[in-house]
Amino acid sequence: YQKNIHRNCHQPGETIDGYRVKVMANIELFEEVAAVLDHGGEGIGLYRTEYSYMNRKTLPSEDELYEEYRDLAAIMDGRKVVYRTLDLGSDKYMSQYGQTQERNPALGLRSIRFCLRHKEMFKTQLRAILRASVEGNCAMMYPMISGLRELREANKVLFEVKQELKRDGLPHASDIPVGIMVELPSAVMTAELLAREVDFFSIGTNDLIQYSLGIDRTNKDVSYLYQPLHPAVLRSIKLVVDAAHQGGIEVSLCGEVASDPFCIPILLGMQIDSISMNPQAIPGIKRIIRQTTMDECKELLRRILECRTVTRINRLVMDSIFQRF
Ligand code: PEP
Ligand code: MG
Repeated sequence: YQKNIHRNCHQPGETIDGYRVKVMANIELFEEVAAVLDHGGEGIGLYRTEYSYMNRKTLPSEDELYEEYRDLAAIMDGRKVVYRTLDLGSDKYMSQYGQTQERNPALGLRSIRFCLRHKEMFKTQLRAILRASVEGNCAMMYPMISGLRELREANKVLFEVKQELKRDGLPHASDIPVGIMVELPSAVMTAELLAREVDFFSIGTNDLIQYSLGIDRTNKDVSYLYQPLHPAVLRSIKLVVDAAHQGGIEVSLCGEVASDPFCIPILLGMQIDSISMNPQAIPGIKRIIRQTTMDECKELLRRILECRTVTRINRLVMDSIFQRF
């Protein structure tokens, strides 16, 4: 069975009736690129760049980052690579660099907030990304954007970095797509406004579920409340997908939900453009996509959006799966 899945994993993620969804990979370390290619990843939809900063005593230099990003772009050979800028803090803690213990780390100085506070560190990474992007099919995105003001602040730093690279005479790609992760309820509610100022969205459901349902994603005591099929979560995802499409941009989803067989038909029904997940999950998810039709997915979504409780939605999804097999 496992062998069969793998044999077909290089086929596209396409439904029986021809709806195409790009199936990409999430990685944390450069070394995982082999797994991406082996499992049929069409690109890297989320490179969690912070892992190169963790578990070490000094910060990586611009050249060190540049070489890592450049090699990744080169090895992916024209396939898309999305670099997520530093997402440190909360569950990804870097003890060496002024990150103090906070009482509410998930609500604290993390992610893009941390980068905007430590601008030189942020700039070093942005320089490395833009320099490496000369090599391949690259894009970048900011994590944890809460709204327009923060997005514009990050873009201002990016603009300064481009000017500085020009001044320094260093080759760089100044026009790579710049997107944001939608993982805060405030970004969901302002998605329509944000869509006008970015090139793409990537929905981070791991955090979006945490912040929407008010539960710590790392706390076992409340893990029973971590419900991807909660009506609030599904409505949020739909709102973001629709806002992206109305604004003429693409939308991806790169949280764990993307690798959840129960959620895939719903995401397809919403007409998500791409999904990104751990490489090992790709063959199985492609297989599900290739065995379904868009009509089925749309009908399931329509029925789900009428449900009032997560219990009812769970049952509907289960029934739809058992009906098929
Ligand atoms: C997410 O929040 O869904 C996400 C993909 O990012 P991370 O898990 O790295 O926070
Ligand atoms: Mg996140």
